Order: sequence, then structure tokens, then C-alpha cells
Amino acid sequence: MIIASRTTNTLGCASGSWRVWSLADGHVDMPAALLKAPDGGAVGLPRSLAGRDAMVRLSVNCFLLEHAGAGGVLIDCGAGARWEPSMGHLGAAMAEAGIDPASITTVALTHTHLDHINGLLLPDGREAFANLRRIVIARDAVPKFRDEAHLQRFRPLLAPVGDGDAVVDGVRALALPGHAVGHMGYRLDTGDDCVLFCGDVFHVHALQLTRPELTWGYDDNQAVARATRLKLLRDAAAEHIWLAGAHLDRPGIGRVTVDGQGYAFVAAA
Ligand SMILES: [Zn+2]
Repeated sequence: MIIASRTTNTLGCASGSWRVWSLADGHVDMPAALLKAPDGGAVGLPRSLAGRDAMVRLSVNCFLLEHAGAGGVLIDCGAGARWEPSMGHLGAAMAEAGIDPASITTVALTHTHLDHINGLLLPDGREAFANLRRIVIARDAVPKFRDEAHLQRFRPLLAPVGDGDAVVDGVRALALPGHAVGHMGYRLDTGDDCVLFCGDVFHVHALQLTRPELTWGYDDNQAVARATRLKLLRDAAAEHIWLAGAHLDRPGIGRVTVDGQGYAFVAAA
């Protein structure tokens, strides 16, 4: 994979006949106390994160896959105008990269939490992607999406997928259970590289790579989320797969190597 373009909030990588963009939606600060150790044990946070009011900063990343002849596939679309003002900046990142939102024909959702789906709408309520034809979503996550009344107009576009289903040529859905109902990754094979867009398998970059046993308070099923992360890291290190995570530190894409009991992250740069 070759870095082809970089701005403050965007990174464009070329691989085979694909272009992969990492686009910053922003960041959100959340309590470090949301980190959980297995079986309710002590987390043992570093001193800087141990106080009751200590916060961790999560990047919020979206990813765009472009291929000649195919419309753009956007993986998650950020928080829109419904969360902190520090989020919802996907449109500005796209402008920075020179990407026309009208080129997006498919959005593929990793799950239905608001920091991943609200960017379907602009702050003024208009649709963010004028030529959107399809919203790929895990079959199990469809009821959750339908619960979001403000996104009702998008229901006819929902295209449910299961583990292993093709999204477009070269991209397959990969179930990554534990964080949320129907949490789904997407695996791109460019011929030269494999990139796994893994959604919310990681929340706290600084800790969940070195200590992948730590889970996040908002993981629906802590044990399953932990097992998914451990397997994903083992496989990614063994197969030299690129990982692209919604909350990994910018640019949110890189490779992992085994480092002691945990893993080290080597960001694409
Ligand atoms: Zn998230």
C-alpha cells in the first residue's frame, strides 16, 4: 500500500486498482473508567488515566473505498450533528481530500451506534450523499436501524448482509461480534493488500493493543468482544493484514505486530 495523499484530516492510500481513504469525522472524550478487565478484576490503568475524572480521547474515523468503474463505498459515516461538536466533520474532511459526496453510492455500516450512522444526514437535515443507492448493514442490525425514526427515509436503501457476503467485487462482510448487535467488519482484497475495516473492535488505542483483554463499557457482550479482538489481532499479525478502525488514533489504519503479551501498532504513514 502506498500513501498517495495526506492532509490534516485525510489519508489516501493506493493499493492495486483501489484507493483507500481514511477520513476524520472528529473525536470524542470519554471516561477512562469505561475500560473493563476480565471477570470484573482491577483494570490497573496508568497513573494519567487512573483518576475518577480521567478521560480518554477516541478518534472517529470513516473510510472510503474507491475503485475505477465502481461508485465509492463509504464505511460508516460519522456522528453527523447529533453528538459532540467535536464530531460530525466528515463533510469537511471529504472537501479537504477533494472527494465529492455525490460520488458515494454505497454506505456500509459496521453497526448502528449514532457515531457511525448519523452522518447520513447533514446538520440542516438534508441527505449527505445525493446519489446513495444502498446501505449495507448486517441482517441482525436492521431492526436497530429501523428504531431510528430520524433516519426513516433511508429504510428502503437497506441491503442486509451476512458473514462472508460480497459487498462489491473485492469486498466481503466479516462478522466481528461482541460490541453491538450485528457488528460487522468489511474485508477488502486489492490483490496486493488485505485491509480489514474493523469498526469498534478497538476504542482506546493506547491500551487495547498492548492489553487486548481490556473491554469497553459499551461492548454489548464483554466476553465475546474480547474474544473477537484477540482473534482479530492474532490473525492480522500472522497474515500481515492492514487494520482500519473507527476509533483507532489517526490515521486509524496500520499493521500490528506481536509485542510481548500484546501488540504494537504501526500506523500507515
Ligand atoms: Zn463507535
